[in-house]
Amino acid sequence: MQIDIDPGCGFCSGVVRAVALAEEHLKNHGTLYCLGELIHNAQERKRLEELGMQYIEKQDMLKLPQGSHILIRAHGEPPSTFELAHQRGYRLIDATCPVVKRLQWKVKKASDTTEENEVQVIIIGKKKHAEVRGLTGHAGNRALVVENESDLTHVQPGIRAVIYSQTTENPGHFTELAAQIEQIVLSGNPDTEVQINPTICRQMSGREPRLKAFARSHDIILFVSDPMSSNGRMLYQAAVSVNRNTHFIEHAGEIQSAWFRNACSVGISGATSTPGWLLREVAARVENLTRKNG
Ligand code: SF4
Repeated sequence: MQIDIDPGCGFCSGVVRAVALAEEHLKNHGTLYCLGELIHNAQERKRLEELGMQYIEKQDMLKLPQGSHILIRAHGEPPSTFELAHQRGYRLIDATCPVVKRLQWKVKKASDTTEENEVQVIIIGKKKHAEVRGLTGHAGNRALVVENESDLTHVQPGIRAVIYSQTTENPGHFTELAAQIEQIVLSGNPDTEVQINPTICRQMSGREPRLKAFARSHDIILFVSDPMSSNGRMLYQAAVSVNRNTHFIEHAGEIQSAWFRNACSVGISGATSTPGWLLREVAARVENLTRKNG
């Protein structure tokens, strides 16, 4: 049986960096508070908890003793979080992804350098997503977030628009919404400037076509992800759309040997939140089962 782990899956560089910073800190200090989920994966969460990580929400920050060490995850935070930490004497370990940091800076610049009624800064993304909350904070809460078509009613015709995307936005969805925003703005005055900045992370934008190619080239696909990961659900749908023998699993214990009957190749892939060690565990389990069966 040929068993391959998808070379394009697993953590993006921003998450790899955040996990490495957390691990290093935990090794030296034993405890670290993480503001929100570091990764949407229960198995990885548990592993880090065992190393001393504690997860907190923003409202819990005030309850921490002075001098506590808090990790800012790859999605970043609004400036108010940094101000609060400074006031309370917390030490922040800032693992904001450099790509997100650049986007925060661009959004801030676009919002700062213009009069409010002369420009509309628009972010296409999920309103409740931590990265988008961080970005709107950097825009001084003046940015309009467009998540879907129902938000387009807030776009103002005839006012210059600067559009950005959440780094993990679906490229097709971004293109569609940006075109509709442009149409609304130009309906007020066809000479109005509309600047469309597709700030989707390159590590995300090519993920779906690469996964589809990988899924097509194997008899069976095991897609490993936390069921709560929206990225995982979206990528699973992409894999199953080209290979009906795609199984969604959370861990190696769910694998059934009956799946491999008549199969010559198994591909193992996962979400951007699926840790490499979990993919390797799945591969080892498949090898074990297929060797016994064979
Ligand atoms: S911007 Fe890209 S590399 Fe950074 S955290 Fe987001 S997906 Fe990962």
